Amino acid sequence: MPEGHSVQRTANWFNKNLAKQKIKVDSPQGRFSAEAKLVNNRTFLKARAIGKQLFLDFDNGLSVRIHLGIYGKWRYYGKAEKDVVGQVRARFYTSKAMADLRGPSVCEVIDSQQVKLLEKKLGPDPTNPDPKKINQARFVERVMKSKSAIGLLLMNQSVLSGVGNVYRAELLFRAKISPHRAGDSLTQKQVVNLWQDSVALMKVGIAKGVMVTRQEQLSSSKIHDERNYVYKREGLKCLRCKGTVVLEVMASRKLYWCPGCQK
Ligand SMILES: [Zn+2]
Repeated sequence: MPEGHSVQRTANWFNKNLAKQKIKVDSPQGRFSAEAKLVNNRTFLKARAIGKQLFLDFDNGLSVRIHLGIYGKWRYYGKAEKDVVGQVRARFYTSKAMADLRGPSVCEVIDSQQVKLLEKKLGPDPTNPDPKKINQARFVERVMKSKSAIGLLLMNQSVLSGVGNVYRAELLFRAKISPHRAGDSLTQKQVVNLWQDSVALMKVGIAKGVMVTRQEQLSSSKIHDERNYVYKREGLKCLRCKGTVVLEVMASRKLYWCPGCQK
C-alpha cells in the first residue's frame, strides 16, 4: 500500500508533464470509458495529492479521483504508446507523455461539490504546504482530544492523511512514544513533534522515492537496503536500547515497535 509520499510524487509527475494542456483520457480496459469521456480533450489544470488520494482537476469543474488501494499501479511513458499491457483502467496522455493506471480501488469522475466534501473529511496532509500551521493545529487538536491509541490515530485518515504502516511505526520510534498511549495522554509538544517529524520524513520520501527514516541516512544521497528502525525488524535488537523489536497486530495491521524505549 503506497503511503502519501508516493501519491505526492505522482501529483508532481502530472503537474510537470500534463498540466495546463488539453489531454486525452480513455480506458483501454473499458471500465472507465463512460466517465473518461467527461474529461477527455479538456484542459487538465493541476494534480493534487491529499493523503493517499489523487485529484486531477479539469477546466470544466470536474475532477478524476484516484485511490490506488493495495493493487493499483502507475506506469509512465515519455511519449504516447500504442501498446496496452494488461488491464489499463485509465490512460492520460498527450503526444509527449503518457500515464497508465492499473488496478486502482477508486477511479471516478466527481464534481467540485464532491471534491469539497471529501477534502473536509480528510485529515491534514503533512506533504501539503502549511505556511500558517493550520494543518499542524488540526492534527494536534484531533490527537489531543482522542482517547484512542496514538498507533491507531496515525493510521486514521481523518486525523492524518497519507501516513501508512511504515511511517506510523517509524514516527513513534523516533519520538520514543509507545503506540498504545492514548492521544489525550500525550503532551502538546510530543504531538507537534510527531507532526513536524512526519513533514520532514515525507519530504525526504518524496525526494528519494523510498521511505528512509534512519537519521544518519536522511541527508545521504545513497539508498540503503536497511533504512528503517523498527519496520520489519521484529525479533532483532533495537538500534537504540537493549530491547528487542516486537511485532503486534493492531486493528488488523502489523505494528512494529520497541517496548524497551518507546514509553
Ligand atoms: Zn529500543
